[in-house]
Amino acid sequence: MLHNMKKFPSDARNINIDLHCHSNVSDGTLTPVALVERAHARGVAWLSLTDHDEISGLPAAAARAADLGLGFIHGVEISVSWAGQTVHILGLHIDPTHADLRAGLERTRSGREQRAREISEELTKVGIPDAYAGAVKYADHASTISRLHFARYLVELGVADNISQVFQRYLVRGRPGFVPHRWARLEDALRWIRDARGMAVVAHPGRYVFDELKRRAFFEAFISAGGEGIEIMTSAHTPDEVQTYLKLARHYGLKGSRGSDFHDPNESPMDLGELPPLPSFIEPVWAQWGL
Ligand code: AMP
Ligand code: MN
Ligand code: MN
Ligand code: MN
Repeated sequence: MLHNMKKFPSDARNINIDLHCHSNVSDGTLTPVALVERAHARGVAWLSLTDHDEISGLPAAAARAADLGLGFIHGVEISVSWAGQTVHILGLHIDPTHADLRAGLERTRSGREQRAREISEELTKVGIPDAYAGAVKYADHASTISRLHFARYLVELGVADNISQVFQRYLVRGRPGFVPHRWARLEDALRWIRDARGMAVVAHPGRYVFDELKRRAFFEAFISAGGEGIEIMTSAHTPDEVQTYLKLARHYGLKGSRGSDFHDPNESPMDLGELPPLPSFIEPVWAQWGL
């Protein structure tokens, strides 16, 4: 099946590039500067910082990257609601000064505070009081409060052993502490990214619970709104999922991305720049960026 597949230049492919990670301006734990320093120390050549709905970490990260001679790509991970599900869309190679993008991200962030208070109320009902204050302690550098800040506090309390156990027991649909939330519309997020001259990429597609019909509808909506890429190599994907999304990318003519989704040295399943390279029969999202 692979015999007539076009190969893309290997020099671009073999760059150690990491196009998905978080700093403490969202739900990561390292400062933007420390994150860039860690990436550089681990041999990453090009890095994109992609905080959730937030770009305020980019200037400090870009400046430190320039000092170190590390390539830097401006990015963001936008929370989107589509057909009742949350989907994360990476905006890569964006112009972070674009006014519509900035305003859109600010609106997307604005609901998080109220949602956090509601999460806390839900947790109170199952005997975990004051979780809002507990989560805020973990979000002291962030302008966005995330379920991951709650998760860190729940681990501190000892109600679960680790972050992934918290998410199995709390904070997800059907469990205590889940609060449904309306994020940005897919079409809006893609318009902000496009207007900021960036590239829209579906983050960790293996994480979404779509049946076949819904998955098709989602990718058709993503592509018709101007989406161009999909994460293939990412810490959330099993080897089988890598194959599944490679096939899907080829079916839809999407480019492939590589990003660890690193948040913290102890919590994250994969460190910066540790992923295998993108397979050779898919065009990298970065192929035309002139890196
Ligand atoms: P939020 O955007 O506030 O809904 O929080 C989502 C964040 O929680 C994600 O970006 C991850 O950092 C984290 N998260 C969600 N599910 C899991 C999970 N199963 N294991 C570990 N972290 C998770
Ligand atoms: Mn996160
Ligand atoms: Mn995500
Ligand atoms: Mn992420």
